[in-house]
Amino acid sequence: MSEPLSAAGPVGEIPHLLGLDRAGLVALLREWGESPFRASQILQWLHQRQVDDFAAMSNISKALRARLMAETRWDEPEVIADQLARDGTRKWLLRLPDGNAIETVFIPEEDRGTLCISSQVGCSLACSFCATGAQGLNRNLSSHEIVAQLRVARRHLGLDAITNVVFMGMGEPLLNLKQVIPVIRLLLDDFAYGLSSRRVTVSTAGVLPGLEQLGRETPVNLAISLHASRNDLRDELVPINRHYPLAQLMAACRSYPLPPRRRITFEYVMLDGVNDSDADARALVRLLRGLPALVNLIPFNPFPGSPYRRSSLARIDAFREIVLSAGIMTVTRRPRGDDIAAACGQLAGQVHAGRRALVPMPGRRVELRP
Ligand code: SAH
Repeated sequence: MSEPLSAAGPVGEIPHLLGLDRAGLVALLREWGESPFRASQILQWLHQRQVDDFAAMSNISKALRARLMAETRWDEPEVIADQLARDGTRKWLLRLPDGNAIETVFIPEEDRGTLCISSQVGCSLACSFCATGAQGLNRNLSSHEIVAQLRVARRHLGLDAITNVVFMGMGEPLLNLKQVIPVIRLLLDDFAYGLSSRRVTVSTAGVLPGLEQLGRETPVNLAISLHASRNDLRDELVPINRHYPLAQLMAACRSYPLPPRRRITFEYVMLDGVNDSDADARALVRLLRGLPALVNLIPFNPFPGSPYRRSSLARIDAFREIVLSAGIMTVTRRPRGDDIAAACGQLAGQVHAGRRALVPMPGRRVELRP
């Protein structure tokens, strides 16, 4: 028998305000006999203006404020490390009440500021080139723990610094959609974070049932962590390929309900001598033929104990040239924040006893610039 649910979760649990999207708030307000129209005001105070004090919520009745204070939670994880890389990339380590810690990364660029957020504590997918994968999974993050990553970053950077959000931190977002979808709704809600759906990207290693749900329920950008164009190699690099092999993955991409003029990003980590030959580039071209694709080549970022080397720049350029000349948009991702282990695939946090062997990840600390 499943547990009875109230607006915010199982009955008896104190709802966490920061994790409620508009529909969740409306349900809570209805339960309390309050007008659902209050939801917009509450979203604005909590997210858009990010006030920490209910007393500031001047257009909300004292009685409702008192009830929110007494009957909901809005606590946040504690920031236990704050590191700034030479290139301006910034990484926070957040301690959760259960003792685990997760990482969030801010990547400033000339025309945008991208926040890379985590969706799980660790990851169960065990991709062979990824530090998070080496740790195993401890648990899913709750929607409020995902939202808290935005709040921490905005508190440190200012409310307008984040223009883009990518679910490319620790974890596989499509294995935690129940918590990720309300966060996406908050990101897109004009009264909360108000981001355009073009500025929110969910990245997946190819969890197909989740992919279908994501496409049905949200209009955000999709990135697929492809990394290989042959099943034998992809089975090794991205083991979930054994469950959802390339033919199924590509069929799911072809039928994905993309908004008009949108492309699917295909991420391809460049591993020296593993997946970076001219023949690999041609196989990639054949695989993506006819798809509205953008290929994102990611120079491999090493982590302690990792078994791979990064492809040379010349090799990456030659690979890119082959894919480009077949008419497929291709860019090389510049490694960001690698001096503080904040680059793609380097996020480790502090994951307790993941559901795989735990690889020790000595934290590399870099002093903050004054
Ligand atoms: N689980 C999701 C979200 C993680 S996104 C996914 O797989 O898409 C992180 C991106 O960085 C993915 O494309 C991932 O494959 C890539 N990545 C992981 N480890 C890496 C490494 N060591 N170097 C470069 N990219 C890496």
